[in-house]
Amino acid sequence: MTFQNFGLQQEILDALSEKGYQTPTAVQEKSIPVLMQGEKDFIGLAQTGTGKTAAFGLPLLHLVNLNDRSPQALIICPTRELCLQITREITDFAAKLNHFQIVAVYGGASIGDQIKQIRRGVQVVVATPGRLIDLIERKAINLGAIKYVVLDEADEMLNMGFQEDIEFVLQQTPNRDSIWLFSATMPPPIRKVSKQYMEKPFEVTIGKVNTTNVNIDHQFCFTTAPHRYETLKRIIDFNPGMYGLIFTRTKADAQSITENLVREGYDVDALHGDLSQPQRDKVMSAFRSKALQVLVATDVAARGIDVTGITHVINYELPDDPEIYTHRSGRTGRAGATGICISIVTSRETRRQRDVEQVNQIRMHRFEIPSGKDVCRKQFYYFIDKLHDADISHGDYETYLPVLQERFADMSKEELVQRVAALEFDRFLKYYENAEDLNPRKEDRGIRKDIRGIKRPEGVSGSGDYVRLFVNLGTKDGFYKASFLQYILDKSDLSKAVLGKIDMKDLKSIIEIDKGAAKQMLQSLDGKLYKGRKIRMNPA
Ligand code: AMP
Repeated sequence: MTFQNFGLQQEILDALSEKGYQTPTAVQEKSIPVLMQGEKDFIGLAQTGTGKTAAFGLPLLHLVNLNDRSPQALIICPTRELCLQITREITDFAAKLNHFQIVAVYGGASIGDQIKQIRRGVQVVVATPGRLIDLIERKAINLGAIKYVVLDEADEMLNMGFQEDIEFVLQQTPNRDSIWLFSATMPPPIRKVSKQYMEKPFEVTIGKVNTTNVNIDHQFCFTTAPHRYETLKRIIDFNPGMYGLIFTRTKADAQSITENLVREGYDVDALHGDLSQPQRDKVMSAFRSKALQVLVATDVAARGIDVTGITHVINYELPDDPEIYTHRSGRTGRAGATGICISIVTSRETRRQRDVEQVNQIRMHRFEIPSGKDVCRKQFYYFIDKLHDADISHGDYETYLPVLQERFADMSKEELVQRVAALEFDRFLKYYENAEDLNPRKEDRGIRKDIRGIKRPEGVSGSGDYVRLFVNLGTKDGFYKASFLQYILDKSDLSKAVLGKIDMKDLKSIIEIDKGAAKQMLQSLDGKLYKGRKIRMNPA
């Protein structure tokens, strides 16, 4: 297969050979013939580095009308770096074409210059979502003649919160012939967009599709090594409906944790390498049938286990090899369900935790270990719901009703309910009556100042590692959450990782931001102008 086979113009072929491209890559071979037809919606599951820029760039050059200087193709991508990279590549491919014009529009650069370039006339626009919306709102760009919309790194755009913006842009291109979507993963929200806006898309998958699962909520808590087991118990007790898998690093840990939990009344068993095959089968069958609420396993023993419906994966300790983390967490959040992966971390393990985040490109959110009172409250509400919704339609309770009535004739409904609750609760109330706080004390926390992304549990205010900033910009200023995010990050030159929750109102917003980054944000925005109006930003 050569590039000649595709039927591209000679000028493009010449540019390609000057660039040193001899044979098409796999994604190019599969995509170019389909995309050159121009009519068909398209999904390409491919990672960066596979040559996907040429896979969509070359067909676009083939399709656009060079005698027409209105934008005909729109490429939307998540970051300014990618925006510039795509523009450079396509400019190279078009080096020998007369009258070809392309513009890169992205935040953090002069919008005036970009508007001038658009006014001069361009066939292809490469844009980041925030800046594009800005241009649409200023009526500085006309998308009426756009025939092809390319969504590059769609999953990344989604992670960055651009879903609404993308949908808005798709609605602004009513005369398009096709959408070409490229993504490394296919999480449900992208499927949803494709279902809504695309018609029977032609789908191409290249190589191994990235397995990072966006349905998993990654969480961690800090504790001290002597409290590790107690912390595990508290997590289990705080999640009464849990159907969970606990991972340990050693067989000995799996065994001793299981023995302790069994002794304390939990439905749990262990799976590790010392078990014979029949023993393993027995444990697995009990777990599958949910006779066990929790299974404690080592990595090796858990290999190949496929159980649906697991609500929680708990890392009693993080794995030595950060890549193992994905294999563990991937046991939950399957088949479109959501799941939670919780890691118990001590101050000595913060390095390992960061490696896990980096290697797997995930963000773990910290939660405070629940207090004894929290556990009791949670168990109580779980119990009363269970009592209230108990199914009595199947048993012959009528037969026993007279006996029950007689036996409890002198007992009020309140007293009866209390006694039922006591039966279920005694264990928790007694156990947690004087339970200690398992969160490390403040002075222990000093050593972990470098940990980022600390999320406070809902409803708790005050001393997280975030501070809150007020700003007099809101939705009335024409911002969507995503475009607002892009705007403040571009202005301050900060990354999204420093931000927490953003609460937007009509005329103001509250931004949660990492303590260490707040000053830079304040200096970059406070007193500056937005659409001629002075921005006021101060600690909330
Ligand atoms: P991309 O996935 O588009 O970022 O491309 C990855 C790298 O491969 C870029 O540096 C491209 O210039 C290069 N590349 C793409 N297609 C080809 C090809 N057919 N032959 C040689 N290099 C290529």
